[in-house]
Amino acid sequence: MRKLYYNGTILTMENELPVVDALVICDGKIEFVGTYEDVNNRGDISEEINLKGNTMLPAFIDAHSHFSAVANSFLQVSLNESTSFHEISSRIRNFIDAHDVKPGEWINAKGYDHNLLIEKRHPDRFFLDTCCPENPLVLQHASGHVGVFNSTGLSVLGVTVQTTVPYGGFIEIKDGELTGYMEENAFLEYLRKVPMPDMSVLMDAYCKAQQLYASYGITTIQEGFAVKEMIPFYQYLLEHNRLTLDVVAYMDMKDDKHFFDYFPNCIKQYCNGFKLGGYKIFLDGSPQGRTAWVRVPYEYENDDDDYCGYGTMTDEKVVDAIKLAGDKGLQILAHCNGDAAIQQYLHAIKKVTRDMDIQSIRPVIIHAQLIGIDQLDLVKQLELIPSFFIGHVFHWGDIHVLNLGIDRAAHISPAGSALEKDITFTFHQDAPVIEPNMLETIWCAVNRITKSGKKLGENEGIDVLDALKAVTINAAYQYFEEDIKGSIKVGKNGDFVILDKNPLTVDKMEISNILVLETIKEGKTIFVR
Ligand SMILES: [Zn+2]
Ligand SMILES: [Zn+2]
Repeated sequence: MRKLYYNGTILTMENELPVVDALVICDGKIEFVGTYEDVNNRGDISEEINLKGNTMLPAFIDAHSHFSAVANSFLQVSLNESTSFHEISSRIRNFIDAHDVKPGEWINAKGYDHNLLIEKRHPDRFFLDTCCPENPLVLQHASGHVGVFNSTGLSVLGVTVQTTVPYGGFIEIKDGELTGYMEENAFLEYLRKVPMPDMSVLMDAYCKAQQLYASYGITTIQEGFAVKEMIPFYQYLLEHNRLTLDVVAYMDMKDDKHFFDYFPNCIKQYCNGFKLGGYKIFLDGSPQGRTAWVRVPYEYENDDDDYCGYGTMTDEKVVDAIKLAGDKGLQILAHCNGDAAIQQYLHAIKKVTRDMDIQSIRPVIIHAQLIGIDQLDLVKQLELIPSFFIGHVFHWGDIHVLNLGIDRAAHISPAGSALEKDITFTFHQDAPVIEPNMLETIWCAVNRITKSGKKLGENEGIDVLDALKAVTINAAYQYFEEDIKGSIKVGKNGDFVILDKNPLTVDKMEISNILVLETIKEGKTIFVR
């Protein structure tokens, strides 16, 4: 089955033949790339598709997100962009009414950002008790790293003032009472104990999540922190062939044996669309939650002038984790936002590099938002791949100026400097933190404009083509898939996205308004507008 695409602007992301007007795919693989006149054996073509002047690119590749959390977000109260406690409360009540939630059922509400609330703080359990006293409730911050439980939630989970706080975590107690607020390892530990919804409901949500990614032109996605509780869902998805996208999972180190047992054919290779790519570790929190671990104290911190956030793993633990990944030949992804966390990671990698070829597992720095310009040489030398959460410039840029001061904020996600040092980097949205909107991400990387319309670190802006490479060929490299994905080249998978405008020629401010018309995976259309 040979399919011809013609009469479009085809951007290949290859240095040789960067723009062509025709390509042929055969059985899902690219067979020809070039000009319409040069297509051979025209008689064998079973389908000719006129691109009508639209632009075709290799499909986008999600360098970091949380597939299951995106699926779950369809089953949760969305608190994105809420502006007050009052709004949080009414969204929760509306959800209870709309979904006919019974007393005792868990409610998961996600996406509030205390910086955007008029109260400028996290709600506490006493407030949340007024929203839904009869249901256990967890409120997750937009960063996913901190949150609040209501009193029913705390008692169902058995949290009391006597509860031991896990290392690298925080459980807030005021006047001898729990406030319900928790951070990092404490929050994540209790969040994991919140029960999941029914299988059929969940599968429907996983299906919607894949449609969401596909609607943004993405065909390869990530399970950015795979824990054993997810195994039954993946078993179901694989058994019933429900994965329409390629999913790469990065495991919690504690749980790897479970994944190896259940998915022995998925280790570093796809089986029914699922691949175990390696491990995920967390070295700190988030800058907007002021839990990113930084070298220079935060600004505007009232209670403690020297507050620098904090690390969530000891130096030895980080070294051990990298060694373990190296021993198994599996990739490691480390969540590091602050420059102190990045320093810890760099030191650990450097240490391990002495007795191990750690570069062969292509270690990744996830987020790398506050990476110091002075740290980039070592990143290059150690061949680390920073994956920048570049959309932060727009979504939280104004808040970063307040928390970090203008100089540091201007260098957040310094793609321009990384490019100058010839570092291979990728971009991600950390969905569901923000939508996996690749064109908005490209727009951010190129324009670096905040929500209030201010330019933030203009010299860190990059060209459109380099930004596109970050979410195609570079992301394919990050996944060890540069031979099959990421560019339009003979022999690679027929994974494409068709756009209504050419991002290379459109006004730079218009890039985020470009529409994804169609998404194609291995020759099959999986999304059409
Ligand atoms: Zn993260
Ligand atoms: Zn993440």
